[in-house]
Amino acid sequence: MKKQKTPEQDIAELSDEEILRYNRHISLKGFDFSGQESLKSSRVLIIGAGGLGCASSQYLACAGIGVITLVDDDQVELSNLQRQVLHTDNDIGRLKVESAKASLQQLNPHIDIRTVAQRLSSGELSELIQRHDAVIDASDNLDTRNQINQQCYRHQTPLISGAAIRMEGFLSVFTYHDDEPCYQCFSHLFGAHAPTCAENGVLSPVVGIIGSMQALEVIKVLTNYGQPLRQKVLLFDAFKMSWREMKLPQNPACPVCAQQ
Ligand SMILES: [Zn+2]
Repeated sequence: MKKQKTPEQDIAELSDEEILRYNRHISLKGFDFSGQESLKSSRVLIIGAGGLGCASSQYLACAGIGVITLVDDDQVELSNLQRQVLHTDNDIGRLKVESAKASLQQLNPHIDIRTVAQRLSSGELSELIQRHDAVIDASDNLDTRNQINQQCYRHQTPLISGAAIRMEGFLSVFTYHDDEPCYQCFSHLFGAHAPTCAENGVLSPVVGIIGSMQALEVIKVLTNYGQPLRQKVLLFDAFKMSWREMKLPQNPACPVCAQQ
């Protein structure tokens, strides 16, 4: 069952103030009023309010996504501030989702920002994904990433996946059409133990670059504007400042997306 938004469905009209605010979007050839209205009518779920979540959500907030839901049960720590740009020294000890929401609301008071500050059961995650039009995976561990993919596949909700560590970044978009790979087709290639930023470090702009690209891909998917990064992965080498694109085939033995 595909969730298809028809053009007539739930399309929110822009106020005069919003037309001015989003003028540079509306002026984009092919994006127009309808693109901006689609953004206003959209709900995006961002799982993780760390480095990728901060970077992606600030552009999505400014861009005028109607509803942004942030999920994270962590509190802000001093060691987060080097890359998690929505939190400040004054937020240390505060829930990340609350701190992020306050910053995002200052960037754009016209949008609705919702927060979930708890670890979700698989049923809760499934319900939340079902209620959104796209999901940004900004989480920091492989189990969560695989779970998000499984539920996005189940509900046919586009998943914009990104990761950043050391001087490396990864980006891909999964829309789950026939013969398209899913995140697990990719993640099974690197086994059960993905490295973490806490162990390996990360240079802060690398997180910002990948998070911004996740925001860009969400906007493209929601508005059918441009070509999203489907069926391939983009690998970023910040050391050499080079990008590599790899085709991502479906794994015929994938436990999530392979046809029986
Ligand atoms: Zn798969």
